[in-house]
Amino acid sequence: MSSLNQNPFNHFYVRSVIYSLVIFCVTACQSTQQQLDDTLESEIIHQPIALVLHGGAGTILKENMTPELEQQYIHVLDSALTVGYQILENGGESIDAVTAVIVVLENSPLFNAGKGAVLTHDETNELDASIMDGATLNAGAVAGVKTVKNPILLAKEIMLHSSHVMMAREGAELFAQEQGLELVDPSYFFVQNRLDALNRIKEKEIQEQTAATNDSKFGTVGCVALDKHGNIVAGTSTGGMTNKRWGRIGDSPIIGAGTYANNATCGVSATGWGEFFIRGVVAYDIAALIEYKGLTLKEAARIVIQEKLPKLGGDGGIIALDKMGKVTMEFNTSGMFRAAIDGDGAKFVGMFEKD
Ligand code: ASP
Repeated sequence: MSSLNQNPFNHFYVRSVIYSLVIFCVTACQSTQQQLDDTLESEIIHQPIALVLHGGAGTILKENMTPELEQQYIHVLDSALTVGYQILENGGESIDAVTAVIVVLENSPLFNAGKGAVLTHDETNELDASIMDGATLNAGAVAGVKTVKNPILLAKEIMLHSSHVMMAREGAELFAQEQGLELVDPSYFFVQNRLDALNRIKEKEIQEQTAATNDSKFGTVGCVALDKHGNIVAGTSTGGMTNKRWGRIGDSPIIGAGTYANNATCGVSATGWGEFFIRGVVAYDIAALIEYKGLTLKEAARIVIQEKLPKLGGDGGIIALDKMGKVTMEFNTSGMFRAAIDGDGAKFVGMFEKD
């Protein structure tokens, strides 16, 4: 036996030192944890929240709009904005705000998404949607579904509960069913004015012997939100383009073209002539200009929408926000249905260029 153990004073002394050290460590850890919590708390308190949405870009002119119709648009845009912003204000997450906003717009027959979507050449509705999470760069997309009531919810399920990013047509519908999403008879999506628009385009096609494309599609919906955790989510939903054929898919379900989100740069949802947005990789291009060239969100969006896209021959617009809650709504058409509350709490609802 060692002399230390034989000496009661030494034994008592060693135990006291160990106890003191343990108490010191526990207290130090608790105060470090408290400091971390305080820092986190203050960061959360100072993190702005913001939300921006669109209901499509195109030839939207006051002279073509009755005051009643204008009021209907304003009402739905405002309601969707309120639904999403309240989720963020109550501490909810961007993903829930974005999907809630897009569901409101999909359920409104005014927009080219969900109910009221444009018709294909064969008088059917084929819906596309996508969503992206800027925190994880995870994404979900769906193309060409005919029976899913809210395609944005299917995009979200694909993102959260599958190992894939994009699903299409019957396979996507089977997955929707497995996830318990609401399926509807295809006739649910039909509204008469979309058939009238299709017939006008077909008539024009016959007369001009050319496929009518531009301005035959607008009304896509989208939303980008920033929550109190600094997370950005972007989503887009559309019926595509009137008179589309051969399983045509536009930019809306293409991550990087119609939708993109990255907490480090921005979140973007696009609307316009999809073929050009795909070729211009528009949503990602805006984020890339911020990341690689150090441009502001506003500068990046302006260059892509006002310079690069028209050079390709495309028209349309985007909504976007960054992690500071700065909002941009850029379009090169005569109007874009849009609404936002930025990081400073400033609210906007409008549709014409001069709004
Ligand atoms: N970008 C959509 C598409 O081409 C249409 C639109 O945004 O109006 O499918």
